[in-house]
Amino acid sequence: MIDEKGILFILSGPSGVGKGTVRKELFKRKTELKYSISITTREQRPGEVDGIDYFFKTNEEFESLIKQNKLLEHAKFVNNYYGTPREYVEKTLAEGYDVFLEIEVQGAMQVKHNFPEGVFIFLFPPSLEELKNRIVGRGTETEDLILNRLKEARNEIEMMDAYDYVVVNDDVDKAVNKIQSIIQSEHCKRERI
Ligand code: 5GP
Repeated sequence: MIDEKGILFILSGPSGVGKGTVRKELFKRKTELKYSISITTREQRPGEVDGIDYFFKTNEEFESLIKQNKLLEHAKFVNNYYGTPREYVEKTLAEGYDVFLEIEVQGAMQVKHNFPEGVFIFLFPPSLEELKNRIVGRGTETEDLILNRLKEARNEIEMMDAYDYVVVNDDVDKAVNKIQSIIQSEHCKRERI
């Protein structure tokens, strides 16, 4: 359903919790949500497509976007920049579509500051041990990067209280069902007003 102005949904949580998998599964289902493709300076992984998974940019290009205020939020995560294009989000919300961000915790906190009316969903790992297994199991990172990501994940979990909803990702389908219910509820909430 399309309201006058769309709702901004932010899915966040620690690295390795499965945000990417949950988000991709959500978008495989029939949905009117619009995904905001992020901009990053990190290296393209095998199988990733520029303009679909991310917009891949150089450090210089990214820093120029920051200077021009073209990012709604941005963060440095494990030595790479990640950011959300401001114009896409504002334009798409104004057109009446819901916009969905999948971003790390520092960025989500910036969005909360600028868009307090956004709906913030924290994806929680079944356990820290499970989170470690997932980060190690991804197999795309060096040992140093894995340790960094684990450290980051522990700090990120401390931010959970700032979120509207917590979804435990013990099963991808169930997590996606819960996120869809949240989206529906948020629309019902606004209709009553
Ligand atoms: P990855 O390198 O594994 O694709 O992503 C690393 C982290 O960056 C993940 O936690 C992901 O959710 C987050 N991320 C992706 N896009 C953005 C963005 O636009 N802004 C912020 N702050 N984080 C992002």
